[in-house]
Amino acid sequence: QTEPANLADVIRAQAKTRGDEILYEFEGRITSFAQFDAHTNRIARALAASGVKPNERIAYLGKNSDIYFELWAGAMKANVVIAPVNWRLAGPEIAYIVEDCKAAILFVGPEFVDQVRGLTDQIPSVRAIITTEGGAPEWQDFAQWRDAQPSDDPQVAVAPSDIAIQLYTSGTTGKPKGAMLSHANFLSLVRAGRDNTPEWNIWSSDDVSLIAMPVFHIGGSGWGMMSIYHGAKGVIAREFDPTKVLDFFEQAKITKLFMVPAAMQFVVRQPRAREVDFSRLKYMLYGASPIPAALLKECIDVFKCGFVQMYGMTETTGTIVALPPEDHVEGLERMRSAGKALPGVEIAILDPDGKPLPPRQVGEIATRSGSNMAGYWNLPEATKKTIDGDNWLRTGDAGYMDEDGYVYIHDRIKDMIISGGENIYPAEVESAICDHPDVAEVAVVGVPDDQWGEAVKAVVVMKPGKEATAQDIIGFTRTRIAGFKTPKSIDFIPALPRNASGKILRRHLRDPYWTGKDRQVN
Ligand code: ATP
Ligand code: MG
Repeated sequence: QTEPANLADVIRAQAKTRGDEILYEFEGRITSFAQFDAHTNRIARALAASGVKPNERIAYLGKNSDIYFELWAGAMKANVVIAPVNWRLAGPEIAYIVEDCKAAILFVGPEFVDQVRGLTDQIPSVRAIITTEGGAPEWQDFAQWRDAQPSDDPQVAVAPSDIAIQLYTSGTTGKPKGAMLSHANFLSLVRAGRDNTPEWNIWSSDDVSLIAMPVFHIGGSGWGMMSIYHGAKGVIAREFDPTKVLDFFEQAKITKLFMVPAAMQFVVRQPRAREVDFSRLKYMLYGASPIPAALLKECIDVFKCGFVQMYGMTETTGTIVALPPEDHVEGLERMRSAGKALPGVEIAILDPDGKPLPPRQVGEIATRSGSNMAGYWNLPEATKKTIDGDNWLRTGDAGYMDEDGYVYIHDRIKDMIISGGENIYPAEVESAICDHPDVAEVAVVGVPDDQWGEAVKAVVVMKPGKEATAQDIIGFTRTRIAGFKTPKSIDFIPALPRNASGKILRRHLRDPYWTGKDRQVN
């Protein structure tokens, strides 16, 4: 038996061996592996019939659904590239992405029909709009468009280096960039780990995964793809809703899922969370942003399953570093790390000149593996700055590695504060301030300072009814960290600005202080 060379071949092979077994379940609708294979054949044909050529882009603006995964896989069978768009963005930002990828067809979910009606003149590249679940008589409907085609395989050639998806980065540090991920990128990690796969990453056909993170991020699309790859059932949640996540645990007998820490917080703080039976749940995988130690502890108490932290980025097709359940032990230094490189992944910590640093010295995290993206769409300069000639990818994250290869993530290099020549990582200051009993949340940024270049400012969200003053919090922090790291000033706000992955948008807090001034970023 030959190895599948691309994800389309994986689907074909799974349909042969698993036939009527359930691949996806979505709001009561079941799709078997065989049905999925047939539907995606029809979609590949429908794309060609609509004039979409191999390598052209199509865009998807919709919440999670089985239709999205069909469209993605159907596009792969036609060698067409799907770009799922972050529906939480504002109209002009959505139009920016649709135009950036020059989408030939825009697929629109029912919640966004009205919004797209108002955007049509801003998306001239789009030749047709198709609704995934109706709602617009003036546009074609997905099911009709798909089912007008026969279900036999169109047999379009797809090379491992062809692009399987164009995923936009979260836009935490600037405008989202279109990361092009190839079939080989997806296949490389699963293959590299095959001979010494960690226990938590072994799937069986009894596994039921919950796909609750949005498909416009790798944590949604990449996680949902695992069901196809491993032949396990995937239950798709239209969107993240903490009460529904608990329902899924009770009704669908979920065995594994991926969530970002912000989502875990919503689920674990549901009053009902302590009554739900989690005995079927084997692993909760989490990552995409740092997790507060107190939240992790609370989750361990409530969910009582194995926990796996993941570190990675869109540009690395997701996870490259993981902290396994056996390292989730209170009191262990490692528990503060993001874990170790997965099989097949190299990690290095580099100084500003690109030279590797010894253990425990903070520098930029760099990585090399078969899952490093093919490049940023239409951004050759940014691609060259990110991936060097030896295929090392600069993550833009600061961190260090210990003697055993555990990676400790500090912060985005762009968020590092340089005050009086000292490097200060916001996360360290934030965690000191967070220990104050009146503080609910905090973000630390560098603001201009005539004497020190930059000064540390904390932006604090207080717990309801608490009234510690700025002086109280500064005094408290000074007893825990060095004076130069202690905030010089504090702003109080009602909530921190976050993006769809729950990442704090420090630039939104910082930028107003820098208008008309130049911030030196390393
Ligand atoms: P943009 O690149 O557009 O600014 P982004 O970097 O937030 O957005 P993603 O690719 O979704 O977009 O996120 C990758 C980043 O998320 C990593 O570079 C890192 O900063 C952060 N991250 C991922 N996993 C972890 C983790 N386990 N702990 C801390 N931070 C993490
Ligand atoms: Mg990034």
